[in-house]
Amino acid sequence: QQTALRTHPISDTKVQNTTTVVYPQMYKGHFDKLILSNYDIQKRCKEMAIYIHNTYPHNEPLVLMCTLKGSAPFFSMLCNELSLVGHPYMIEFYRAQSYEGLSSSQHVKMDASQLPKSIQGRHLLIVEDIIDTGLTMQKLMEAVETKNPKSCKACSMLVKRLEQESGNTTNQVSFEQELIGFSIPDKFVVGFGLDYNQMYRDLRDIWILNETGIKYGGF
Ligand code: 5GP
Repeated sequence: QQTALRTHPISDTKVQNTTTVVYPQMYKGHFDKLILSNYDIQKRCKEMAIYIHNTYPHNEPLVLMCTLKGSAPFFSMLCNELSLVGHPYMIEFYRAQSYEGLSSSQHVKMDASQLPKSIQGRHLLIVEDIIDTGLTMQKLMEAVETKNPKSCKACSMLVKRLEQESGNTTNQVSFEQELIGFSIPDKFVVGFGLDYNQMYRDLRDIWILNETGIKYGGF
């Protein structure tokens, strides 16, 4: 049995390992601050892949279910790292949506009939880009349980406001048992799949959006 995979808290002020930071010139002036570089994410994916390999059986494929669209780059990076450690897996895709613009809509759009059949009787990891209120993941897990997987865990690149979970003030569902890449401050972030009105998914790093970016992405 492995010890829990600890998240990496990202503070507001700490400068991250940025390596080479590149973004389209048309986005110049749209961001407040870089919060995670592509290199940081890749390093973390490597650790997560090793953890997964040491946790799940090696004689049956683990089902990795990508929640579209935002998780796609993280999903693909994680899959690559799992292939590198030689872990068997199957890939599936599912579309769930809870955000409209900058805030959680509280109305998660989910169609359980579209869930992949392959999850029945298998170990499942739901691969998410970010957990905010936790509502999307909670609804998804409830839907997935009706398909009787052998086990089901969330695997999220980011989680917001995790540090508040020990207090009494959070409205966030607890994801202590799940696999989390990084814990980030409660700011709206874009890049590496994460969008604002479908914009900024193309960034290879993750940034906090500023007022100019919000105006631009708001059309
Ligand atoms: P929750 O249901 O946990 O409140 O929200 C989860 C979903 O909201 C994520 O899958 C993601 O699509 C979206 N989301 C939450 N926080 C952010 C953010 O900071 N940036 C972006 N682009 N999307 C977010």
